[in-house]
Amino acid sequence: MQRLARRTRRAGKRIGFVPTMGYLHDGHLSLIRLAAKRADWVVVSLFVNPTQFGPGEDLDRYPRDFTRDKALCAETGVDVLFCPTAAEMYPPGYSVYVAETRLSGRLCGVSRPHHFGGVTTVVAKLFNLVAPDFAVFGQKDAQQARIVRQMVRDLNFPVKIRIAPIVREPDGLAMSSRNRYLSPGERADALCLHRALQEAERLHRDGERDASVLSARMRALIAGVASAEIDYIEIVDDETLQPVETITGRTLVALAVRIGKTRLIDNVVL
Ligand code: AMP
Repeated sequence: MQRLARRTRRAGKRIGFVPTMGYLHDGHLSLIRLAAKRADWVVVSLFVNPTQFGPGEDLDRYPRDFTRDKALCAETGVDVLFCPTAAEMYPPGYSVYVAETRLSGRLCGVSRPHHFGGVTTVVAKLFNLVAPDFAVFGQKDAQQARIVRQMVRDLNFPVKIRIAPIVREPDGLAMSSRNRYLSPGERADALCLHRALQEAERLHRDGERDASVLSARMRALIAGVASAEIDYIEIVDDETLQPVETITGRTLVALAVRIGKTRLIDNVVL
């Protein structure tokens, strides 16, 4: 991969990169299309990264469909689909990890304490392998996107980060590979994430600026859904990820909710 990327760069081509864990959906494809629009050569990586999963999480049952992913990539103008194995990425004796220390412990980092260390480590490795001019990440994983931007800035990666908007199902559920875990009943219940975010947006539009009012309304809405258990609802500064009491600047409303056994995340920016 590294040799191929270096040769391509030397030929003067602009490399766009989209890292994924596969089981591609329209959210992933929107990132790939954005990359294809601005790059001469598009690389998609497909790697279910073990270091970003905690014990007891869904690493072993994470959905996979290589044949379908490959066909979708070919249709969407991907030049290289890079699929390393875990043994190639983390050979015996592997001992170097990249840690972001300020943003990673908040929001998803509370219930998934090692998650973002796995993300920064694998993204740093992938950037070194693919040598992209730019990489595209989804706003769906807002905290991840923020942490990757921080890593690129602090470690001087020569990579521009682009963030693509959240792609949703027609009824509002944010697309996610994990949606396939949901039973039909849970699939209906999962709409409570988007409904709660819409309610926050509506209150904000109507002039409400007290963050506790928004989160209380969201909490009440989700509490009425039988299979839903809130991991967190947070209203934070979009840049620092620190909680805000009064909404003034760009504010991220983010939540993680367990629907049955499936943990889903979603967000809006006010
Ligand atoms: P994943 O395969 O879940 O690790 O996601 C790979 C990339 O796709 C990440 O940058 C995600 O933020 C992005 N992504 C996942 N779902 C969506 C979505 N519904 N809309 C936009 N981007 C998404």
